Amino acid sequence: MEFSANGNHTNHHKVIIIGSGPAGLTAALYAGRASLDPLIFEGHQPGGQLTITTEVENYPGFEHGIQGPELMDVMRKQAYRFGAKSIFRNIIKVDLSQRPFRLMDEEDKEYTAETVIVSTGASAKWLGLESEKVYMGYGVSSCATCDGFFFKGMKVVVVGGGDTAMEEANYLTRHASEVIVIHRREDLRASKIMQDRAKANPKISFMFDTVVEEILGKVEGERKVVTGVRIKNIKTNEVSELDCSGFFTAIGHEPNSKVFKGILDMDENGYLITKKSTSETNVDGVFACGDVQDNYYRQAVTAAGTGCMAAIDAERYLEMKEYEERAINS
Ligand code: NAP
Repeated sequence: MEFSANGNHTNHHKVIIIGSGPAGLTAALYAGRASLDPLIFEGHQPGGQLTITTEVENYPGFEHGIQGPELMDVMRKQAYRFGAKSIFRNIIKVDLSQRPFRLMDEEDKEYTAETVIVSTGASAKWLGLESEKVYMGYGVSSCATCDGFFFKGMKVVVVGGGDTAMEEANYLTRHASEVIVIHRREDLRASKIMQDRAKANPKISFMFDTVVEEILGKVEGERKVVTGVRIKNIKTNEVSELDCSGFFTAIGHEPNSKVFKGILDMDENGYLITKKSTSETNVDGVFACGDVQDNYYRQAVTAAGTGCMAAIDAERYLEMKEYEERAINS
């Protein structure tokens, strides 16, 4: 797929934001209030990862919590108040080697932009079971910090053997009565210190050489609840059921950065690299925020904070460019 020779300058924008989670929508709010008429490419999961959670209790400003989809809806409306607009398609190709930058969406439509804010987020990896989708947000989660609180005094399962799994398991012991880590091999992949910490925690136990075949649950009126998992020991082939009320996948995250491969600097896991204390990437005028550049905090509020940074960085970049052009022309 190629860009046309001349581009289509009717689709020119000062700021194009790719991604619509808390980072992208906060960037849109700030860019909108700076009269930059931002255009947001929301993709096929408008609102990002928060739209697959239920209650969000740790986003400041909501004393009694708020549903994830509602929070994103309110953020979008707030950005729209100041002139932001959305297109519900993905950007599938970018050319950041020339000014203005050129972007192409999945319908082969071209857009040009003076600045680009990348807020494409990261996606939790899932096992790929149908039952994961059925109980997502109703006992199935990939974020202990977000959802651990709902499992007070209950037994929960964590799948994975890396640092994320150890961290999630440890965090969950603050709330759950018992945490069982299920790992597909005999050896954990996690760093020794994280393993030691988890193994020393009396509320955590391990099941090795074991895979989860299905998440079990039931529908209670309008509510769905997880009741257990069907597991298989891959050495003995023995299949059994284990009771639990919560199921956390902790098998890693994947930053949504494929479109920028070879164009923007990224680490070995694909997370975009930004210059310290800014949202600047290696390309002048392209900024990154939210989980696509954050493998550490991964919270809605930190994503929103970096979205604010990206919009301010873009605004200052545009101001500097205008100043330089005026100086050249005078
Ligand atoms: P990771 O190191 O890739 O570990 C993923 C784990 O999930 C592995 O144990 C893997 O099993 C298992 N797994 C993957 N796919 C699976 C599947 N389909 N079914 C069952 N199990 C599956 O990912 P991570 O734990 O998210 O860590 C990513 C990076 O972030 C690492 O560099 C880590 O050190 C870092 N991190 C650091 C901290 C910290 O220092 N506080 C916290 C979190 C993450 P196998 O072992 O068999 O491959």
